[in-house]
Formats: sequence, structure tokens, C-alpha cells
Amino acid sequence: EKRNPNEKEFHQAVKEVLDSLVPVLVKKPTYIQHAVLERMIEPERLITFRVPWVNDQGKVKVNRGFRVQYNSALGPYKGGLRFHPSVNASIIKFLGFEQILKNSFTGQPIGGGKGGSDFDPKGKSDLEIMRFCQSFMTELSKHVGPDIDVPAGDIGVGAREIGYMFGQYKKLKGAYEAGVLTGKGIGYGGSLGRKEATGYGTVYFVEEMLNNQGLSFNQSTVVVSGSGNVSIYAMEKAMDLGAKVVACSDSNGYIYDPNGINLDTVKQLKDVENKRIREYVKDHPDASFKKGSTGIWSIPCDIVLPCATQNELDEESANLLIANGIKAVGEGANMPSTLEAIDAFLDKGVLFAPAKAANAGGVAVSALEMAQNSSRLTWTQEEVDAKLKEIMTSIYRESMQASEEYGISGNLVAGANIAGFIKVADAMIDQGVI
Ligand code: NDP
Repeated sequence: EKRNPNEKEFHQAVKEVLDSLVPVLVKKPTYIQHAVLERMIEPERLITFRVPWVNDQGKVKVNRGFRVQYNSALGPYKGGLRFHPSVNASIIKFLGFEQILKNSFTGQPIGGGKGGSDFDPKGKSDLEIMRFCQSFMTELSKHVGPDIDVPAGDIGVGAREIGYMFGQYKKLKGAYEAGVLTGKGIGYGGSLGRKEATGYGTVYFVEEMLNNQGLSFNQSTVVVSGSGNVSIYAMEKAMDLGAKVVACSDSNGYIYDPNGINLDTVKQLKDVENKRIREYVKDHPDASFKKGSTGIWSIPCDIVLPCATQNELDEESANLLIANGIKAVGEGANMPSTLEAIDAFLDKGVLFAPAKAANAGGVAVSALEMAQNSSRLTWTQEEVDAKLKEIMTSIYRESMQASEEYGISGNLVAGANIAGFIKVADAMIDQGVI
């Protein structure tokens, strides 16, 4: 804390990992001798930069850009860009740190990174978004490349923003380096199945965890927070597997539909019309909207998938869910549950799929996009989806196996941290003190 003052999200992420690594360090003191943890916690590089742009009224605005190039032991830095007013060094470092371990157990050759800006895309025109993205990439282009650092989307950054940034990178470099960004449009190097990958992958992971206990999504009642990229495709896959999804949200509040959420309406509102989730009730008279997004956790259900943002599910909400008979939690967002909420779930035997493992499907398919770009091939949606399923199953098995090996059977939080850590730590030792 002394070295990184006032970075509460970063401290929280590191604490969760360190707590679960104790048995590993006891069993393998070589990690202590090589100061692997100290090295892993310190980013290789943290870049911050000015992003000036001109709004539609001709006024000059200035935002701050970030890129943390955290760890390159396993491959080029890889991780998304987040555009949200809450973005600061603590948030970017927590996301980057988690990304190292997550990327490690996808089994793909990718290191860990993350970036973004405190720019707020809400209410901005298309041209303002384009000018901001161009200015952001003008600086970022000095630090990224297909074999150096490969950003992707995250909150506030989807295919449109990736397109504008890709265009600017291409113009600055004078070369078509398709592999510099992932999450690109399908027409110019994007991978089929990428936009669905995080949400689908979360549900594949949770289904594996449920099946292991003789349970399944089929005929379960599910609550999913958020209504962005991850939420929409988590809802879609949960419904495919026979679940009834009754609620979703945005930062203003949540909707509850006792008949089951109509996903076409949500997609139309969010993907096409850029509207708020409260508009849903206009087309669905049985549904209701309530202000305040945390109220969503008071809805009785079998499974929750928090897919919005960090720390959206606290201890009080966890206790409410437990009292209402929750069976499983699958984290689609990054660090959506507080440490106290995780403890409450684990104490009460609720099945818990932690973000690092459960939402790794997005970055896994991003790595498949990089593979397609460098081989100049395009895989079908079915091929990508089959690979995604295989990767999520193997992440589940590896996390479970690690939890068994270290005497905490079924604790996937610790299992995932351990499985991710060992691969990176071994590679760091092999590569010497750098
Ligand atoms: P989007 O920007 O597409 O969607 C975010 C959604 O969450 C929006 O509906 C937003 O509503 C809502 N939201 C934000 N804050 C809150 C809140 N406090 N309460 C309720 N809803 C809220 O982002 P993504 O879907 O891409 O990302 C969601 C999460 O998943 C993030 O934690 C991200 O890091 C993580 N993730 C994303 C991956 C990806 O592939 N996209 C990969 C792995 C992890 P509003 O419009 O009101 O802001």
C-alpha cells in the first residue's frame, strides 16, 4: 500500500490473489527466492498520456489515456481498453494484474495488459467518438503492435471504437497490421464469435461447474446484471441452455420481467437505438423498472451472472441472495463481487465461478483472432465456438485440479489464481531476472 497509495481496486485484486497463493509459496519456495510475486505485482510499464480532442461545438477537451504493459512472460501484452469516467491508474492496474493470470490459463501465448481513458462516451456524437479515438490512438500507436501489445474492447469500447482506432493506426504506420487490435469488424479481420465470446464463455464455464454437481441452467431462474456486450450474450446462451432470465440492468436501474426477458427488445434498445434499459417496459407491460442497480440482487433466483462492473455485488447483496436460496454465481464482469461477498458465498457453499476463469472466453477468442490474422485465414463461427467451449472446459478443469492439489477442493477462486500463477511464474523464472 505504501508503494501504491490510494489505489483501492488494485489492492483488492492483489490481496485476493496473494491470499490464495500462500499454499503454493509454502510448497514451492523457489517462487520466493526468485521474488516472482514482487516482480509480478510491479507492472513492466505504465504509460499515461494526454488525449486532446475537439467537440461538436468546436471546444477543445482533454482526457487522460492509460496503458499498463503488465507482464510479457507468455507473449505480447494483451487486454482491453475501457472508456469510462471512473478510469484511473488503480482501475487500470487492477484490470491489468488480473489479466496476466486470466490470459495465462487460456493456454494462448499472450501476456497481460490493459488500458483506457476517463473519457465518457455517453451522449457523444459519432464524430466526437471518432475524433477522440483518433487522438487516443495517435499516442497509443507508439506503444502497440501485433508482436508488442494488442489491445481490445472493454466497457465503452466496442466494434465502432476499435474500427476508428484501427483506421488511425493504419494511417500512422502506413501498413496493414491486422493483428494490432482485436474485436475488429468481421469485414476487416475480426473473428466470428468474438462479440459473443465473453458472455457465452461465462455460461459454458458455469454450466460445467453446475453439471459437476448434477445441476444445470436448464429450467433455472437467472438474473444478469448490466445490459452491455457481456450481459447480452450471457443472457442469450443461458436462454439457449433452457434458463429463464428474469432481470438485467444498467447504471440507472434494473428491469424485472416475470415472463422472461425478451432479448430482441434488449438488443434493439442497447445495440441499435443506444437507449436506457428502462425503455424496455414500454413494450412489455408485465415488466417493471426500478431505479438503483443494486436492487437487482433482491430478486429470488437460482443463478446470478454479474456482468456489469467492479464491486457491484457487496456483502449485503450476497447475504440477500443466499437468504433467497441462490445456488451459483458466475462472474462475467471483472471483480464484480467484493472480497466480503465472495467469502459469504464460499462460506455458505454457493458454487462460485470467479471472473478470472469464467470471463476468460473473450480474451481467448481475441487470441484466436490474432491467430487468424497472422495465418491470413478465417474460421467459421462453429469452429470458433467449439474452440471456445473446449477452452472454457479446460480452464474449469485446471482450476478445479489446482484447488484439489492444494487441499482446497472446489474453491475455484483459489484454484484459478494458482493455475494462472504457476504458468507465468515458471516462465518468468526461465527467462531470468528481467
Ligand atoms: P459494456 O460497456 O458493453 O457494458 C457495460 C454494462 O454495464 C452497461 O449496460 C452499463 O450500463 C452497465 N453498468 C455499468 N455500471 C453499472 C452499475 N454500477 N450497475 C449496473 N450496471 C452497470 O461493457 P462490457 O459488457 O464489455 O463489460 C462488462 C464487464 O465485463 C466489465 O467488467 C469488463 O471489464 C468485463 N469484461 C469484458 C470483456 C469483453 O469482452 N467485453 C472481456 C472480459 C471482461 P450504462 O450504459 O448505464 O453504463
